[in-house]
Amino acid sequence: MIVAGNWKMFKGPHEARAFAAAVRNLPSRAPGVEVVVCTPAVSITAAVQGLGADSGVRVYGQNVHWELEGAYTGEISAPMLLEAGATGTLVGHSERRQLFGETDETVRLRAESALEQGLRVIACVGETEAEREAGRTEAVLEGQVAVLPRHERLVIAYEPVWAIGTGKTATAETAQEAHAFVKSLHPTAVLYGGSVKPDNAGTLLAQPDVDGALVGGASLEVTSFEAICLAGAQAVAA
Ligand code: PEP
Repeated sequence: MIVAGNWKMFKGPHEARAFAAAVRNLPSRAPGVEVVVCTPAVSITAAVQGLGADSGVRVYGQNVHWELEGAYTGEISAPMLLEAGATGTLVGHSERRQLFGETDETVRLRAESALEQGLRVIACVGETEAEREAGRTEAVLEGQVAVLPRHERLVIAYEPVWAIGTGKTATAETAQEAHAFVKSLHPTAVLYGGSVKPDNAGTLLAQPDVDGALVGGASLEVTSFEAICLAGAQAVAA
């Protein structure tokens, strides 16, 4: 069970350090849950420092470039993430795909480089509302999942785009159905993302093929992030 917070473009180093210090003991209170925070790149080192040496909380980047270095203004490479203290990264978040021109091919390149360099990867997939309404959910997921490398350090996050930051959540049945489909294509853990909150986390995480959560908005407050991690621990124990 993985519960990963995606801070998006929130929390600079100062706030990141304070948040990290507040959640450093969370893994001991949420047995069976791998707790992850995906921070802005400039905040990785501060988050790692706030967690201290013996916290089980992992710090990830939110994206990674496929080259190790070079003339790629604004990008960050896997060795740089590692040097800053990250142990993993997101790739293919729908905001990257929709707002910054990320394609299945660039997602593949980013995931491969991260894995080659020893990082863990959460690769995001998911259909838009129009694609779901057009009955294209499975075709879209098939295309997005097909390019992802099979690797023990890669997990997938199913994030229906219509549920991200909208307050709309997939029903537990819709999530379960999509997760089972994704797993039939790529046998790995599949996290659910899309308006996961303390009050719906328990039901979603209880689904047999929901192996964790990728949490945006509700990961920005210590209390709501903790509540979701504790719901994950309950699902593990059940
Ligand atoms: C996300 O950022 O991946 C996400 C799922 O956001 P939210 O939980 O705010 O919908």
